[in-house]
Amino acid sequence: MSKRSSFLSYGRQTIDEADIQSVIDTLLSTNLTQGPKIEEFENDVAKYVGAKYAVAFSNGTAALHGACYAAGIEVGDEVITTPITFAASANCVRYVGGTVVFADIDPVTYNIDLKEIESKITSKTKAIIPVDFTGQPVDLDGIMEISKEHKLVVIEDGAHSLGATYKGKKVGSQADMTMFSFHPVKPITTGEGGMITTNSVAYYEKLKLFRSHGISKTSYSSEQGDWYYEITGLGFNYRMTDIQAALGLSQLNKIDVFIERRREIAIMYNEQLNNVPGIKVPKQLNETESGWHLYSIQLDQNVINKPRKEIFEEMRGLNIGVHVHYMPVYWHPYYQELGYKRGICPKAEYWYEQALTLPLFPGMQDEDVMDVVKALKMTLGIQI
Ligand SMILES: *Cc1c(COP(=O)(O)O)cnc(C)c1O
Repeated sequence: MSKRSSFLSYGRQTIDEADIQSVIDTLLSTNLTQGPKIEEFENDVAKYVGAKYAVAFSNGTAALHGACYAAGIEVGDEVITTPITFAASANCVRYVGGTVVFADIDPVTYNIDLKEIESKITSKTKAIIPVDFTGQPVDLDGIMEISKEHKLVVIEDGAHSLGATYKGKKVGSQADMTMFSFHPVKPITTGEGGMITTNSVAYYEKLKLFRSHGISKTSYSSEQGDWYYEITGLGFNYRMTDIQAALGLSQLNKIDVFIERRREIAIMYNEQLNNVPGIKVPKQLNETESGWHLYSIQLDQNVINKPRKEIFEEMRGLNIGVHVHYMPVYWHPYYQELGYKRGICPKAEYWYEQALTLPLFPGMQDEDVMDVVKALKMTLGIQI
């Protein structure tokens, strides 16, 4: 296998003519923001996942911030999440002054381990932020049971899992609030964008106020003129534009096709890599259907006598855009300075040292998948 002529990134968007036309139509319309497309997009996502309400945000991180606000997380409250995630799943707790508590992962699914969650619950625990890592849903029944017993709010980080199912139900209808991200590498894109889905009207109302400065137009009395509005709480400007929502609406039409292609590619990888000594392919539980946002393998450093860094660099040298998702969040200097010690989640740390993300996105051809497989086998010194 020689160097690919073009760089194969680990993930990227799929944009077609319908997406382009949808954006153009909105550009030529009256409203570039605060127009009709936002609500249409919210309604379509809510319907797709089977939730009552949806609130669009400027990005997924802003949406998580909103969810923490709506959940009433404040200074002194503890929130449990996984260390194997993008930092935003933890940072959002810090935005509202809460304390992040990391619970270790399950070594089979790499998702947060329910027994670890239970061991971290204290009288200060207010919420859990489980993450559907790589697109495989967490054990939602188990998490909702824990949350009922301890009166906790569950904010599911579904940045990877729009379109994935848990026991036949789409992610987005079962937790108290579920966050989706529409960053270009995610299941569908709006450029930047995010959303919260919920079945609670109370959360829905709070999220809408928070997204737009805390502005309420419904609380004014009839003596006031039509210009009148009130700031009823401290909100932000976290609005999505109609241009973004127009792209999202068009993208959502294709999500099942995207996921089907992602699944095909994952199956190809599984078949090609399953029997390679030292490689552990990701395991899917029977009750879940992953959205396959990421394809993350484990390189067993007891079997493979080449450091991951060398494998990574040789693959990059062949123009294969391997990546690593994610370093344990509390290893970041910001969290180290807050006092989190290395070693608090040993399974997550062990997992991280061996993790490698292979390219996976709907636009990949079978030949691209085989380029990755061949490059990996060559790097590991395996005859092909
Ligand atoms: C992408 C991502 C986010 C944040 O979403 P943005 O839209 O990029 O702000 C949060 N959590 C996880 C797990 C993510 O992958």
